[in-house]
Amino acid sequence: MKNIAVLGSTGSIGTQTLDVVRAAPGRFRITALACRSRIDLLEKQIREFLPDMAAVFDEDAAADLAVRVRDLPVRILKGMDGLIEVCAGSRADIVVTAIVGMIGIRPTMAAIEAGRDIALANKETCVTAGHIIMPRAREMGVNILPVDSEHSAIFQALMGRHDSKIGKILLTASGGPFRNAAYEELKNVTVEQALAHPTWSMGAKITIDSATMVNKGLEVIEACRLFDVSPDQVQVVLQPQSIIHSAVQYEDGSVIAQLGPSDMRIPIQFALTWPDHLPSPAEPLDFTAIKSIEIGVPRNDVFKGLPLAYEAIRRGGSMPAVYNAANEWANAAFRHGRIGFLDICEVIEETMASATVTENPSIDEILAVQEEINRRSEVKYG
Ligand code: NAD
Ligand code: MG
Repeated sequence: MKNIAVLGSTGSIGTQTLDVVRAAPGRFRITALACRSRIDLLEKQIREFLPDMAAVFDEDAAADLAVRVRDLPVRILKGMDGLIEVCAGSRADIVVTAIVGMIGIRPTMAAIEAGRDIALANKETCVTAGHIIMPRAREMGVNILPVDSEHSAIFQALMGRHDSKIGKILLTASGGPFRNAAYEELKNVTVEQALAHPTWSMGAKITIDSATMVNKGLEVIEACRLFDVSPDQVQVVLQPQSIIHSAVQYEDGSVIAQLGPSDMRIPIQFALTWPDHLPSPAEPLDFTAIKSIEIGVPRNDVFKGLPLAYEAIRRGGSMPAVYNAANEWANAAFRHGRIGFLDICEVIEETMASATVTENPSIDEILAVQEEINRRSEVKYG
């Protein structure tokens, strides 16, 4: 029985993690859950999975929840301290970081310090603090198991080939809903159009990131952090049907890819059952129904989110944190109707242009970068 804590249990990855747990009775036990404020759903999850503790970031919602579940032997925690306790204090063997944004940095670090393995979905933490997290995880003997489908594919393509040198990582991208749109057409994109992803059903923030290609930019940096490769070794390949989830090209020219349906429950479960592939709730791919597997090249002239990410990781230091923090602000501003679709990458570009790089930033410095960018963006674009 593997003990699991889920940070962000009410979201897209969080609920699919609980689907995986539900589908394999006796294999997993949920020891802790956490969310920002959706206590109606969290209460249902607590009643079903009976964790030892649950945390709600919003303190009023936490107080409300505590009243609602007072008939159960569950500790209700609140705020950042609560998220940290869920990661470090529960008896979890592995923490699924299904929270969105840099808010996940401190809880993830706490989990690593407590020796918990990490099923890493929260890519913003890996992008901005990966230079701290990865070495610390190695020192602590903590496994970082990627949940992002592309990184799970790469991780699988690397398994058992320790002495082979990676030539390139081939990171696949669906291209999002505007893959074939002209630049001019993107000016008037609505939030609703940007939220209609062709192949994946995901949370709102990452769906917008997929439409701008910033998600792929974050994933390039995530791949550099997780697999210790240079940005020149990561090539983004368009694969509109999301059947090939990514691949590794070895120095002899062999390409090892991982394929499957676009169902996040597969990479989530693999992070929990690694190194074993066990029966899962996902429908397997039907090869008689596949008409084609298209391959293409990303349009970097239209979607600046990707080239800006390469620039951020090449400049290094705090620049990936600048790229990510500017995007977190701009993505939310677009979703709230405050800026246009194309403004998202403009904000990132301008923020990077005026930023100074701090070498090897600490976690406090990374979070200070975010605070400063939020403050300045409110004044400049708000
Ligand atoms: P989501 O918006 O659906 O869910 C986010 C979860 O985080 C919710 O449970 C929410 O309550 C919680 N949360 C947000 N802010 C919080 C706070 N301050 N305190 C506590 N909890 C908080 O997001 P998602 O799509 O599930 O994505 C989660 C992470 O996984 C993101 O980093 C995303 O990039 C990554 N990811 C998602 C997918 C996907 O298919 N959804 C695929 C790959 C990677
Ligand atoms: Mg992905």
